[in-house]
Amino acid sequence: MSIADCLFCKIVAGEILADAVHRTEGLLAFRDINPQAPVHILIIPTEHITSLDVALDGHRDVLGEMMLAARDIARAEDLADAGYRTVMNIGADGGQTVHHVHLHLLGGRALAWPPG
Ligand code: AMP
Ligand code: ZN
Repeated sequence: MSIADCLFCKIVAGEILADAVHRTEGLLAFRDINPQAPVHILIIPTEHITSLDVALDGHRDVLGEMMLAARDIARAEDLADAGYRTVMNIGADGGQTVHHVHLHLLGGRALAWPPG
């Protein structure tokens, strides 16, 4: 699949609409279309990176920014006191279905562990 076909690149480009909650030069965060919790937000780099497995050392800053954006969005969504979860799925066994790096931010209910 080419970058031109990437769903999340199309969301970054505004070709597919999403319910954005946060945007910086390097990041976009938007509500998951099929939420698994009362709050379910995806945080993505605006640059196409297929998965964590192919991320480069040069992506250190943007990957760190994704985590800190999760912290800030969790506060903005009033999740911080109760707690929340961040998850990144990688590859087939990880359950990754969209091949553009994304961090899930889930909260608003008690989340079970371990995952299925
Ligand atoms: P993953 O399974 O980790 O690759 O997660 C991909 C996520 O993208 C899933 O939770 C989907 O519900 C979500 N998703 C797919 N298409 C869209 C879309 N158009 N807008 C928002 N979220 C989407
Ligand atoms: Zn992409």
